[in-house]
Amino acid sequence: MGMSDAARGSEPVLSIAVQKSGRLSEKSLELIKSCGIDFYADSRVLKASASGFPLDFLFVRDDDIPQYVADGVADAGIVGRNEYDESGIELEVVRDLKFASCRLSIAVPHGFDYKDLHSLEGKRIATSYPRILGRILKENGVNAETVVVSGSVEITVEVGIADAIADLVSTGTTLKMNGLEEAECIYRSSAVMIARPDMKEEKKAVLTRLLERIDAVMLARHKKYILFNLPEDKLDDAARVIGGMKSPTVTPLMDEGWLSVQSAVDENRFWAVFEELRLLGAEGILVMNIEKMTE
Ligand code: ATP
Ligand code: ZN
Repeated sequence: MGMSDAARGSEPVLSIAVQKSGRLSEKSLELIKSCGIDFYADSRVLKASASGFPLDFLFVRDDDIPQYVADGVADAGIVGRNEYDESGIELEVVRDLKFASCRLSIAVPHGFDYKDLHSLEGKRIATSYPRILGRILKENGVNAETVVVSGSVEITVEVGIADAIADLVSTGTTLKMNGLEEAECIYRSSAVMIARPDMKEEKKAVLTRLLERIDAVMLARHKKYILFNLPEDKLDDAARVIGGMKSPTVTPLMDEGWLSVQSAVDENRFWAVFEELRLLGAEGILVMNIEKMTE
């Protein structure tokens, strides 16, 4: 049995820094909401408190999140891995949250004969991520000049201050619009939860509770729940088709020779499973979204 909410009265409040407004904001808050944590978020204010869970929010610019966590202004934060790595601050990455995926890519103007990173030898490369780029160039033994710009990296070639760029890409449309071609991905990023490694035990326990909920939500996201009727003699075949973490739940039907079978199925395998079950004679297939789940 878990502790009742009243028994948790002395729990400390975990404060978490999230992006105030930008590509991470909505998904960060959505994830926490889907953990059953209620709060009122007003993007004009700096702080908010959750109800029913000991959590405070700090709404700030994403660039500032690693520093705030390091300084203890917040205990944890949700930030792009790129921002965290670029900050050079050492904290703990406690979860990869798998949203806001993007890549840091080298892009070059048409006509630039790009083969690999060595094609950048002696060139000027504009980027907002000099630390990450510098590390990668160094690892590959490439000497290039880094031109640091804080935004609109994609126009630097056109205006003549750089020969190539290293910028974040998710679809590549912005690059194309600026006459650039994505030449090579050099680094991948997605939103991560960072935390202070030296948190007090009681606070760490709150973070663990939050992470358990996040894991349950993330696990459920890629699964479907499937329920169907099946001729009894096809059960072994069906179990093999479904695969997965546990054997399916089987209930006899009133109809002689028929079973009702239910199981969770990986979303990316769903249609293959569906078709094979049909071939085995499954009927009345019912598919449901799973809201939360544990292993
Ligand atoms: P802030 O005002 O908080 O400083 P920002 O302009 O620096 O915001 P956003 O553009 O909102 O930041 O991007 C936040 C994060 O979203 C990036 O650091 C990156 O991890 C991720 N991201 C995902 N796709 C892209 C993309 N196509 N371009 C830039 N960032 C992306
Ligand atoms: Zn930023």
